[in-house]
Amino acid sequence: MSAPTEDSPTTMECRVCQTEVPAGEFCGLCGDVLTERRGTGPSWLRISAYGAAPGEHLLLPSLASSLFPNLPHKSRTPFRIVLALVLIGLVTFATLRMPAALITVAALGLPLLFLLYLRETDAFRDLPARDLLLTAGLGITLGVGWVLLTGAAVARSYGVPLGTGIAAGRLLREGLGVPVGSMLLMLVPAVAVRLLRQSNRESLDGFMIGALGALTFSAAATITRLAPQFASGMVARARPISSLLVEAGIRGIAVPVTAAAIGGLIGAALWFTRPASKADQHTGYIRAILAGFAAAVVAVYAGLGLVDVSHIPQWLQLIVHLSVAMVALLLLRVGLHLALLHEAHDEIHSDEPVLCPHCNHVVPDMAFCPACGVATRAASRSSRNERREARPTSREPDEPTTDETHPGYSVMAGTYDATPVRRTSYARLLRTWGAGIVVVAVALVGLSVVIHKPSARYICPPDCGHPPTGEPVEVNPRFTAPDGSFSVSYPAPGAAYKITTSPTGVRADFLGGDGGTMQLMSRPANGQTAEDIAKGLVDATFPDTKTAYEIPNAMVGYMPGYGLVADCWPQGANSNYMRMRVIAMVSVKNDLALIAAAVGPFRQFGPDFGLGKPSGANLQLALDMGKYVNSFSWRGDPPR
Ligand SMILES: [Zn+2]
Ligand SMILES: [Zn+2]
Repeated sequence: MSAPTEDSPTTMECRVCQTEVPAGEFCGLCGDVLTERRGTGPSWLRISAYGAAPGEHLLLPSLASSLFPNLPHKSRTPFRIVLALVLIGLVTFATLRMPAALITVAALGLPLLFLLYLRETDAFRDLPARDLLLTAGLGITLGVGWVLLTGAAVARSYGVPLGTGIAAGRLLREGLGVPVGSMLLMLVPAVAVRLLRQSNRESLDGFMIGALGALTFSAAATITRLAPQFASGMVARARPISSLLVEAGIRGIAVPVTAAAIGGLIGAALWFTRPASKADQHTGYIRAILAGFAAAVVAVYAGLGLVDVSHIPQWLQLIVHLSVAMVALLLLRVGLHLALLHEAHDEIHSDEPVLCPHCNHVVPDMAFCPACGVATRAASRSSRNERREARPTSREPDEPTTDETHPGYSVMAGTYDATPVRRTSYARLLRTWGAGIVVVAVALVGLSVVIHKPSARYICPPDCGHPPTGEPVEVNPRFTAPDGSFSVSYPAPGAAYKITTSPTGVRADFLGGDGGTMQLMSRPANGQTAEDIAKGLVDATFPDTKTAYEIPNAMVGYMPGYGLVADCWPQGANSNYMRMRVIAMVSVKNDLALIAAAVGPFRQFGPDFGLGKPSGANLQLALDMGKYVNSFSWRGDPPR
């Protein structure tokens, strides 16, 4: 140990814990800054220096140091590169319209990187394999099970009628119930493992378990929700790139980051251990703060569910999702920081040197590095033990420096020989992550090629179809508007349809087959053309449709008008993949627009199903809608 020099004091009293500690930037005992400066904030928060990365402000929105707190600081760069690769992969596969490859990167990109983080930080050595397997197993099982349980209800709910609001029941069920349910379920693995494990807990162990459980849950749920998309083939030509980009952003970035944040927060709260001495009066609140953060994320996430069912433009939806993920990440960061500052610490040996894995100084072995302020527990147990077993040794100033030479700090003046901290190898990380993603992507792309049905071949005759219009049928009940302005036949209520009438028309919810909703209704035209009305109605309910085609020679009530067939792909964190088809046909007479519309799941018509070519209606409801379209009549039309 070097002798103290005359001109610099080797110890000083910490202004917070009032203990004589080695002089330096930070107090090795309580972690606070030793010399108060502007912007350091309250001592229990230490806002100027994040507890798991040197030189980072607490509120810096860094993915690498928030999601991977145990990594030695220099190992974070390879992880940042893979994070960038996740982003590049998402954008590339969305632009190439390759759904299977896109789903692989979106669902597995971040979770696989998190597994590699666990490996790099010795979790497979430090944590019992049983706990990790139980966490991942529960996460996957619950994720798949939850989607299978709620998927049918979610999918059926997309068939909302045009021009109406969202039913309150649907708002509660799909808007609040499904997202809050999934948030709570993704915490089950952490709670289960915590109940089995009563002692020797550190908050960052809890973070690992909690985030692993939530990430495996969300990965399994995402793959299950999007699996129907594999049937659209290796390249989904019909789908707009913008729709895939939004899907990539929500499923590949917002969902996993939010999941890791909430799982990690709850895990850290469950594993948080108060120090034996009650010297720190804030520890009692820390667990409550962590749980409160997690509850806040759940509440915001429920709000997201409402956004998802409310038919706002998809880009706005993506921005809202990414903003919530950013807030969740910041809460996670603050939560981990507070846990590291206030939890129980390892035994302190302030007279023994130890190498700090973050700033690479040789410092006294205390709860915090006096040089960079990072908590000693922001490193794996194995790393701490190794560095304590092979303590740095003081070296003579005139020896030539080597890789093992590290500068001392504070009471550890001079230079030291210490085994350098093992750094994550770029090549190894990229190779393992890339290989994992490529293997799964190739398998899923192969699967999608195999299950994709080639376009049907038509021979005309006899496979000659007709447009979704037909001859009116007399036997059906007839609706006449209360003011007598129009009348229309509609399906008889019964097993196939649930009928709702209003002064403006009839709504028929198809209960069989693919489901969906048909509307036969009127609107005042107010001088608009049939085309304006049809497009306005579709845009108001489904803001991001892609027009498939305009119906040639569309007629409503034997009056030439305008017909539109469009597709949309509902977005959201909890939505299942589905291609929705919207058909709207409008004719205007006497400034009154009569409208026939149908919304339901897309289903390709073929020689064995549907109207056949030239109809591209591809909607089961369209088969039946035809006979009502021309049954409309305006007031004063001749009887037919
Ligand atoms: Zn102190
Ligand atoms: Zn340090």
